[in-house]
Amino acid sequence: MSQQGYVAAPPYSQSQPGLGGFSAGFGPPNSSLHYGHYGDPNSSYSAPQPGMLKSTVPFGSSAPVGPPPPSTHQISQTNIQNGPSMPGQQPHRFQGPPPPSNIGPPCPPYSQQTQPAYPNAASASSTTQLANQLSSMQLNTYASFQGPQLPPPAQQQVALPPGPQVPPPAVNSLCAQPSLPPMARQDGIPGPVPPNPNLQQLSGQPPGPGYPPQQAKYGPQMAGSQLSYPGAFPGGPAQLSGPPQKKLDPDSIPSPIQVIENDKASRGGQIYATNTRGQVPPLVTTDCIIQDQGHASPRFIRCTTYCFPSSSEMAKQARIPLAAVIQPFAVVPPNETPLYIVNHGETGPIRCNRCKAYMCPFMQFIEGGRRYQCGFCSCVNDVPPFFFQHLDHVGRRVDHYERPELSLGSYEYVATLDYCRNSKPPKPPAYIFMIDVSYNNIKSGLVRLICNELKTLLDKLPREDQEESSAIRVGFVTYNKVLHFFNVKSSLAQPQMMVVSDVGEVFVPLLDGFLVNFQESRSVVINLLDQIPEMFADTNESETIFAPVIQAGMEALKAAECAGKLFIFHSSLPTAEAPGKLRNRDDKKLLNTDKEKTLFQPQANAYEALAKDCVANGCCVNLFLFPNQYVDVASMGLVTMYTGGTLYKYNNFQLDADSCQFLSDLRRDVEKKTGFDAIMRVRTSTGFRATDFFGAIYMNNTTDVEMAAVDCDKAVTVEFKHDDKLSEDSGALIQCAVLYTSVSGQRRLRIHNIGLNCSSQLADVYKTCETDALINFFAKSAFKAILSQPLKIVRDILVSQTAHMLACYKKNCASPSAVSQLILPDAMKVLPVYMNCLLKSCVLMGRPEIPTDERAHQRQLVLSMGVADTQLLFYPQLLPIHSLDLKSDVVPAAIRCSEERLSEGGAFLLANGLTLFLWLGVSAPPELIQGLFNVPSFAHISTEATSLPDLDNPFSKKLKSILEHLQSQKPYTMKLVIVKQREQLEMLFRQLLVEDKSIYGGASYVDFLCCIHKEICQLLS
Ligand SMILES: [Zn+2]
Repeated sequence: MSQQGYVAAPPYSQSQPGLGGFSAGFGPPNSSLHYGHYGDPNSSYSAPQPGMLKSTVPFGSSAPVGPPPPSTHQISQTNIQNGPSMPGQQPHRFQGPPPPSNIGPPCPPYSQQTQPAYPNAASASSTTQLANQLSSMQLNTYASFQGPQLPPPAQQQVALPPGPQVPPPAVNSLCAQPSLPPMARQDGIPGPVPPNPNLQQLSGQPPGPGYPPQQAKYGPQMAGSQLSYPGAFPGGPAQLSGPPQKKLDPDSIPSPIQVIENDKASRGGQIYATNTRGQVPPLVTTDCIIQDQGHASPRFIRCTTYCFPSSSEMAKQARIPLAAVIQPFAVVPPNETPLYIVNHGETGPIRCNRCKAYMCPFMQFIEGGRRYQCGFCSCVNDVPPFFFQHLDHVGRRVDHYERPELSLGSYEYVATLDYCRNSKPPKPPAYIFMIDVSYNNIKSGLVRLICNELKTLLDKLPREDQEESSAIRVGFVTYNKVLHFFNVKSSLAQPQMMVVSDVGEVFVPLLDGFLVNFQESRSVVINLLDQIPEMFADTNESETIFAPVIQAGMEALKAAECAGKLFIFHSSLPTAEAPGKLRNRDDKKLLNTDKEKTLFQPQANAYEALAKDCVANGCCVNLFLFPNQYVDVASMGLVTMYTGGTLYKYNNFQLDADSCQFLSDLRRDVEKKTGFDAIMRVRTSTGFRATDFFGAIYMNNTTDVEMAAVDCDKAVTVEFKHDDKLSEDSGALIQCAVLYTSVSGQRRLRIHNIGLNCSSQLADVYKTCETDALINFFAKSAFKAILSQPLKIVRDILVSQTAHMLACYKKNCASPSAVSQLILPDAMKVLPVYMNCLLKSCVLMGRPEIPTDERAHQRQLVLSMGVADTQLLFYPQLLPIHSLDLKSDVVPAAIRCSEERLSEGGAFLLANGLTLFLWLGVSAPPELIQGLFNVPSFAHISTEATSLPDLDNPFSKKLKSILEHLQSQKPYTMKLVIVKQREQLEMLFRQLLVEDKSIYGGASYVDFLCCIHKEICQLLS
């Protein structure tokens, strides 16, 4: 993984030292480049070991193809079966943790409320305030600006008219500094005043020195510690500005909902054919049927812009990140064509001799079909005789439409032995279930729950469509301070347990009988699952190990010579004496200091070395955490993140309330479509190249993206930079190839191709931007950057880059307008609101009220998210449900995430992909309450429930179907939280009303827009 961190300077302005010697032809990567980043240099982990590298040779390099070197890590079967390790022979895998130091201060227990993550800060006064706000809402009727005042002739854009002049906000927030643009309102409120001088007088600040280059001093104050907290509820008209009639009307600023609805109206339900280079797809929120006609479906690849600037100078000027969000295994819905598989037998895939790109629609056949020119490097290659075909009158092969690799954007190749580890066909993957059986998990009933669930779940292991049963083998381990392996061989009458107590040097005590086919060993496995909860029923052991558990699972897969996934169910900070032992190092004093970043870094080197080992062995780690207090997610989740795994977290797990959510997550994860032991390579046409990668990935060098597994929900975001000028004729071509092992153990290559346009006109670049993809990129790059940079700098860079992108547009693309006019390109008109949501995310907000683990968890989730998931996370869906059309199947249209859109007499659902709130106004209709909860009134509703009763009435049925719809295709099961207006839990709900000012100090949308406007004015003055 490249750890060079966020470049605290404008992107594009720096050359990348680490990539300097990288030739445009994609020569063999220097595999030793990035080893230094991992672990303690003194650790016994010896740097590049040939056996650790995957079969990268045929895949990535232009060097002569040869068999991979023999693995140095193979353990002979005899060793394994003979039991205990031989310390002399193997290097210590773990550098022990630092000597036991004082255990940190006891972690403040999570709140005991139903929703434990955040404190309850609602106060009586704030409740009153809310009531006041709600009533004032009904009184205010804003004169609304309908649409742009000065529609510029050239293209569609949103022009914000100068708004009414308002006094600076009362509280010290993002825009407490002079920020509002000068005002000229249609209804004749005093005309424009020169922008900055006047405003600066308002707050008595000295005039700003133009635009300081990049950092520190410039930029808004985010999340200021000076904020008055928690007095202020967001969004109240009275707080933000003066008398209501002078307030900037929220309806006059670009609405994300309007953008989403407009796209649905114009493109929803239609067929979208990918037949044109540089075509902008429908928004990720629009349902349509995608037809692959030569470019990868937007389900697989979305780009920040579909037209790259032709030169790096232009790119530097616009500062629009050039990136692709690639979700290589995205689910293809049943009404679209699944990927075709191409099999060239022993010959294998056809590839360009020079750049190794795979045969694809971008190859140009010439000389009567005998040769082809590579679209990526222009090399002319001979067509292999078996592949020869004549050309038609337009120079196209006559079999063009018969071969997926000639006519489609996405398809798969069956890989040959050259693409396999040690040139041997892979074995089917294995799933190992590893259950923490310490006191807490037994007492909570969790162990029994897991064991019961597995009895039915193991029948649903993923399989190839044409196969009757799954080829995936399963194994079982339980642990507390020691590890217990189980022999569940089909010939046994009873399962057998083997205890490994030497956790310092984990070994696998059995090979034969550990990984089994569930169908064959069904009775023994069921027997085991029945026995496990009983076996440990009387345990007093509360200490656990963790790193040795991963190590054991990885060693077991390695010994079985297969890739696979570990499913680890764990609840506590691993404090037992063992490698990877952790101490509580959570420290709120670090917030908003330069050391805050250490909270996101792992505390023990053991985990980085372990992650590297796991990736090298195709071992993906899925972690289900059930913490009652701080468990150091940043350390415990590290291996999960680097191995393409998923981290699920259930705070204060309670069997009654949380089983549904957990079991649904577990089922989905076990059944998920997954590629194992994967390595991804992104090739580009000449003139630009992939320079940075973000995701649940691991990188040993600068080009090969390694993933122990990659499932349908995981996306890798790839940033590109210019090497040279791009040609408008040939465009910018991208080919993503993922080499992986399928669920049945077949080695395959999944290829996605996409062609983008290039232009020397900045307007073309802006016109084809995709805000949702931009936000995905910004979120991932910022969340990666906080490992190495203070949060304030990361936030400032986000603000500055937003302003730069918009200022460049105004200067170069928009029709001339007053300095004071805020002009947003059509494709980016909701970028400010999304950017503000990102800035307010708990990851970028150091507040003592937000548990460190929550921040580390969300950071980790976002790093692997696709565009649809980041869109929903940063701008949640808010649905009114009090006025449902009970006769139709239609889900009600969403409304903007602001308190002003709520009403006392209403009920609303709010979903962000992780949590789902049902908010009920104090005057919600009694018939609705009766219909949903089967209770007579608002006062009778219990907020303890995490699900709604199944009732036989239209309200209940309709709401259940909406909930199902909201949950469908989401990677995480959202826990339902019922919130009553003016009760404590409302604070949590309000955090997701992202257009409002946040109680943790984040700016309101209006304030942020003003702030960005001010930045733009400064840039252009
Ligand atoms: Zn080539």
